[in-house]
Amino acid sequence: MAGEWQRSLRGCIVNDSGTHHRTPGLWSAPGGWPFTTKRGAGPAEGGTFLIEGIPVSCPTTSEYVSRSSYVLKEEDGQSQIFRDGKAICQADFIKRPKFYDRLTEEGIPYSKIALLHGKDCLATTIIQTCTYWPSSERCRFCGIELSHKNGQTIKVKTPDQLSEVALKAKELDSIEHVVLTTGTLQPPEKRYPT
Ligand code: SF4
Repeated sequence: MAGEWQRSLRGCIVNDSGTHHRTPGLWSAPGGWPFTTKRGAGPAEGGTFLIEGIPVSCPTTSEYVSRSSYVLKEEDGQSQIFRDGKAICQADFIKRPKFYDRLTEEGIPYSKIALLHGKDCLATTIIQTCTYWPSSERCRFCGIELSHKNGQTIKVKTPDQLSEVALKAKELDSIEHVVLTTGTLQPPEKRYPT
C-alpha cells in the first residue's frame, strides 16, 4: 500500500466531506492543515500532510491536479487517500501550530516571521525580496515577493525576531529544525532593499 503512493502521488484532489476544495486557503480544513497556495518559502500551490508519519508535500491546487486519480477525503473523523474510489492509505492533517497565535511586542504575528513546514520544521525567508524579481530572469516557480505583497509576511526578519519565534515554536510545537532562505541580494555597490 505504501509503495503505491510513493510511486504515484504527483497530485491530489482535496475533497472535504464531499466539498471539492480546488483552491483551499491556509488552514481551511476542519482540522486545519497548512496549504501554501500563495506564500513562500518553498514551492507554492501544494499541501502538506502525513502519510504513515512521513510529511508529504503534494500539489493540490495546480490546474493538472483535477486530472489526478487521487482524492484526499475526510470521513467519520478519518482522512484517507483514495485512488479510483478505493482507499489506499491514511493521510493525517497537520494541526495548526500554537505559535501562530503569538505576537511580538510590536504586534507582529509570529506567523509573519516564520512558518511550520512539514511536521517539525520552522522555515523563514529572511529577506523577502529578490534582485531578479522585477526582471525576466526571475525564477518561474518562485513566489518570494507575492507573500509580502499579500500581507502574509514582513520584508526583513531581524535576528531578535527569528530567535524569539524559534524558541516559542520549540516550546509550544516541538520544532526540531530550522530552514532559512533569502532572496538574492543586490550587488555590493548597492544596498539591499529595505
Ligand atoms: S533567485 Fe530570486 S527569483 Fe530565483 S528562487 Fe531565489 S528568490 Fe526566487
